[in-house]
Amino acid sequence: MPKFVFVTGGVVSALGKGIASASIGYLLKSRGISVTLQKLDPYLNVDPGTMSPFQHGEVYVTDDGAETDLDLGHYERFIDRELGQINNITAGQIYDTIITKERRGDFLGGTVQVIPHVTNEIKERVAALAKDEDVDVVIVEIGGTVGDIESLPFMEAIRQMRLDLGIENTLFIHLTLVPYIKAAGELKTKPTQHSVRALRDIGIQPDILLCRTEHPLGDDVKRKIALFCNVEINAVIAARDVSSIYEVPLRFHADGLDDIVVSRLGLPQREPDLSSMETVVKRIYEPSHSVRIAVCGKYIELKDAYKSISEAFIHAGAENDTRVELEWVNVEDVETAGSTGSFLGECDGVLVPGGFGERGIEGKIMSVRHARENAVPYFGICLGMHCAVIEYARNVCGFEGAHSTEFVEGTPHPVISLLPEQEAVVNMGGTMRLGGYPCRLSPGSKAHEAYDETQVDERHRHRFEYNNDYRERLEASGLMSSGVYEQANLVEIVEIADHPWFVACQFHPEFKSRPGRAHPLFREFVRAALRRKLEREGKTGAEVDAQAAASRS
Ligand code: GLN
Repeated sequence: MPKFVFVTGGVVSALGKGIASASIGYLLKSRGISVTLQKLDPYLNVDPGTMSPFQHGEVYVTDDGAETDLDLGHYERFIDRELGQINNITAGQIYDTIITKERRGDFLGGTVQVIPHVTNEIKERVAALAKDEDVDVVIVEIGGTVGDIESLPFMEAIRQMRLDLGIENTLFIHLTLVPYIKAAGELKTKPTQHSVRALRDIGIQPDILLCRTEHPLGDDVKRKIALFCNVEINAVIAARDVSSIYEVPLRFHADGLDDIVVSRLGLPQREPDLSSMETVVKRIYEPSHSVRIAVCGKYIELKDAYKSISEAFIHAGAENDTRVELEWVNVEDVETAGSTGSFLGECDGVLVPGGFGERGIEGKIMSVRHARENAVPYFGICLGMHCAVIEYARNVCGFEGAHSTEFVEGTPHPVISLLPEQEAVVNMGGTMRLGGYPCRLSPGSKAHEAYDETQVDERHRHRFEYNNDYRERLEASGLMSSGVYEQANLVEIVEIADHPWFVACQFHPEFKSRPGRAHPLFREFVRAALRRKLEREGKTGAEVDAQAAASRS
């Protein structure tokens, strides 16, 4: 049976509990201990798939087609292990199961209650993951903040798990905030004390405290926290603000976190090998070049909506020895302005990410046109591919009014449309084309060159597809179909051969990018942007080649 690490959060939300959990996973893995992670989300949605990105940030899609919390993205990126539906449990799923059982008569004669029915169901889901995966440690992150009404059943379930499994097999880690009060010139420990008291009220005494702080956590502050919160001083770990999330595990290690986790759980004491992350961090912090990529979307006020895309650019930048500066362009502003010049004029590459709904769509299509006509590297993802196809159909093939039936049902040229199986869909939750599908790449295409493989597997999340009725005509006028899901004959990648780098894919490559192993399409897109920048700076072809090659060695 594996050991369990439970991670809770206190004081305020958004302290980075997901990254802290993922970092603990990375540290254990780097000591040769196998780990998996699970997120317990206390909201009543079955999954975040039906929530707006404004509510919840990005929906992260796993290989098995689960629509999950964006923290699963951090988990996969840090421990480099494929996760799935079982790694993200919500209160919605728990209640859905219990009510179905109740209607079936499984509890005949009984009263169905939070304790024990809800708590047992939670414990069963955690146990199911532990049984399913052959790992040494399961790290379970509890969403929300201690004191939230809706997270109580989850807290109660993990409290019981310590009794069920024993103190030597379970560890409670609590992430809190130690704010710096300017007027007093001091770090304050009271919020942490209150937060731990709230945890103790529900029967949980934390073993380790991770203290998020803007300033170094001196020994005096650590001693005070230890005394008032009833933890050992070496279990009070500083979680200092850092510029790159990939530095977090390195800082935790420097403050002794992994040492104490393994000693408390009785796991083998081996020195960790942190070199992979150290290299990534060094490359992120000291790049030789920089490029500006315009991300043309409509959720740009909330960067979490494009979390995996931002991370994929960090990975791709590190591999190109280049800092990728993302220019968040609100496509509705582009529409209002009626031209792209002032928004995209200075950028070295244009990306249109995934999205839903008609708002801002013309601004996205204008952004594609800008990239195509000005030979600016273009990368389209999902809706960004739809926009690329629509733009090409309208402005190169002359199909006036070409559109996706998602936005204009009666368009004269439905170049993007629904497959019959999607027409029949009634329920909105979990019914898109979701998860991993194979894609065959055309030899000689940019996609093939990037992957250096002919068969790849990528994750999807969409309803609408490239309409094969237009395929011959689009291909004849130069929009190559360079990736195809052969079994269903669906176009998965389009590109323009006669352009420095114009690639758009139906899938979401950002979900498979990892630090130290950037996704090939992101890596080559950044490289194309760097080439363009060097060329515009007047470097000769040979110099550009030399610098671009050196940047990747
Ligand atoms: N709205 C589009 C569809 O459903 C694209 C989805 C996306 O970009 N993820 O097909």
